Amino acid sequence: MFKFLYPKEYISSVYEMSAEKIKRLGMDTVVFDIDNTLVPYWIKTPDEKLTGYFRSLEKAGIKTAVLSNSREERSKVFCAVTSMPYVYRAGKPGRKGFNALMAKIGSVPEKTVIMGDQIFTDVWCGNRAGAYSVLVKQVSPKDELITAPKRPFEKIIVKMYLRHISKNGGNNEQHK
Ligand SMILES: [Mg+2]
Repeated sequence: MFKFLYPKEYISSVYEMSAEKIKRLGMDTVVFDIDNTLVPYWIKTPDEKLTGYFRSLEKAGIKTAVLSNSREERSKVFCAVTSMPYVYRAGKPGRKGFNALMAKIGSVPEKTVIMGDQIFTDVWCGNRAGAYSVLVKQVSPKDELITAPKRPFEKIIVKMYLRHISKNGGNNEQHK
């Protein structure tokens, strides 16, 4: 019933999506949410581990970009460190921002992985756009005020999703 909200995969950290794995999936682009996917909302820039990760993807020929619902300053400061392209105030789960980002970087949704910590914004947006949606466990239990009320509903969907994949053979990538 809520399958349109199910991610293709649920992982505990973005680092699980290595360049090798992304290539194996046949993807050539990764779109990231920032807040609580890559860093907690009060951390303004990526640390060395994160920038190293971004570079490892780029070295493998995988494009990286940011799609954030936050104001411009947030993406601008965060992305400046590795000169990563971004679209801010993306309006996820709407597709407009996502499509604008695809046009900006010359990618297509069918070859794009979208990673985010929220079902109702990141995963839903990715699914609607036809991208490979990956739900990432939030990096901090602390949410912004705008996000916190949605979490109990997300938990229900995640529970349903996990039940669904365990019934279907326990493979996280089962229902592509
Ligand atoms: Mg987020």
